[in-house]
Amino acid sequence: MSEKTILVWFRNDLRIHDNEILLEATQKAAIIVPVFCFDPRHFTQTVYHTQKTGGFRTQFLLESVADLKSSFQKMGGDLLIKIGKPEEIIPQICKAYKVDEVFHHREVASEETEVSSLTEDALWKLKINLKHFIGHTLYHKEDLPFPIKDIPDVFTSFRKKVERESIIKPSIATPNKIIVPQNLEESVIPTAQDLGIDISPKDSRSVLDFKGGETEGLKRLKYYLWDTNLLQKYKLTRNGLIGGDYSSKLSAWLTAGCLSPREIYWEIKKYEKERGANESTYWLIFELLWRDYFRFMFKKHSGTFFREGGFKGVKPEVAPNQQELFEKWKNGETGLPFIDANMKELNLTGFMSNRGRQNVASYLVKDLKVNWTWGAAYFEEKLIDYNPASNWGNWAYIAGVGNDPRENRYFNIPKQAKDYDPKAEYMKLWLPELGALKPEELHQKQ
Ligand SMILES: Cc1cc2nc3c(=O)[nH]c(=O)nc-3n(C[C@H](O)[C@H](O)[C@H](O)COP(=O)(O)OP(=O)(O)OC[C@H]3O[C@@H](n4cnc5c(N)ncnc54)[C@H](O)[C@@H]3O)c2cc1C
Repeated sequence: MSEKTILVWFRNDLRIHDNEILLEATQKAAIIVPVFCFDPRHFTQTVYHTQKTGGFRTQFLLESVADLKSSFQKMGGDLLIKIGKPEEIIPQICKAYKVDEVFHHREVASEETEVSSLTEDALWKLKINLKHFIGHTLYHKEDLPFPIKDIPDVFTSFRKKVERESIIKPSIATPNKIIVPQNLEESVIPTAQDLGIDISPKDSRSVLDFKGGETEGLKRLKYYLWDTNLLQKYKLTRNGLIGGDYSSKLSAWLTAGCLSPREIYWEIKKYEKERGANESTYWLIFELLWRDYFRFMFKKHSGTFFREGGFKGVKPEVAPNQQELFEKWKNGETGLPFIDANMKELNLTGFMSNRGRQNVASYLVKDLKVNWTWGAAYFEEKLIDYNPASNWGNWAYIAGVGNDPRENRYFNIPKQAKDYDPKAEYMKLWLPELGALKPEELHQKQ
């Protein structure tokens, strides 16, 4: 090992397992400086007058960073935590600790890649290299059977070719020891208040008491596979609405990088070997492929996913009173119990099921005829698992300006409510004022 010092810049990869930047740094350098920056730009207002990061995700992030710090301390090191812009902070740390190189994971959305570029430029002035790694997806870009620019815009074509012709690499080993500079300054986790964010109290109806961090993420994975065998019926339950068990609930940990998708994949493979494979065990991998797909689509089409016309360039029609309609939608006051119940759940817990997300998004765009980007920005603030590619990709898909091969996909809300909430249990859970009504009466209100 050389006498090098490498700075490992953590962002959405808050874990020590299957983390190439961490392992390679420990193998190539005598000393490493693990750093996390709370970037103030993540805690400001957006052009949509929403908060970029709301209370639920802020809380989850703070817990995730705390868990990573604690893991490093157990390994004999520490995590240096700063509040500030990475392009200013990282070069300062490099000077202070005589860093030779900086490692980080590449992102796909424009704001994140811009921060990487700015940091790279600032480091370059110090003659320090910023090395880019790929570590957020199941499949690595270089293992795909096509260059990014030729990735099919239709998911099924992408999936079939990738499943046939690509490989998923094994997970990377976890280092058991790290050496940080002896004089590494002490740093503390900020509070949400320090970041200017209000934390809402937890609602006991939340599907899960989400707690950020790799430790909790791995615990949830173990629960869903090994402790309960819930994976075995995932395909049958995944459209559920109530409680922790109908789907994996791994999304928030995946988004913060507390869990690696590859680790989940290999754990499922192990599970299939020991307890049997079926359509459900495959289906969780299938869903992870959707996650990969939207990331690759972001790489291919970049900022176009944030435009109202999407990558088709045609804006959907909007209503003249869309502002008023949007306010009602946001607050769960549309008068449609199925929509309102889902929005209440989102507002009070930071989570909404996939079925719910599809319905409220479709309703906003297709029925209320409101600018879909407002809805996407609202989700960005509220969701505990928000990430740019999954959120804006799914929204664009539903708005009909993304990569949905079906023209005019439409969710019939009354029918969806009947199919997925036949006894109206979900609607009554979030709208207790409707408790006295019979399910049939409630369905008639849709
Ligand atoms: C309008 C809209 C916005 C969305 N925004 C986000 C978002 O910001 N962040 C996010 O992680 N997911 C988003 N999703 C996808 C999906 O709804 C959530 O990933 C899922 O509900 C999370 O619950 P789970 O972990 O229990 O999922 P499971 O059903 O257990 O799925 C396992 C994992 O597969 C991935 N996945 C599943 N469905 C999708 C999908 N449609 N697109 C991409 N990845 C998927 C997720 O990582 C998920 O954790 C959005 C979907 C819609 C329709």
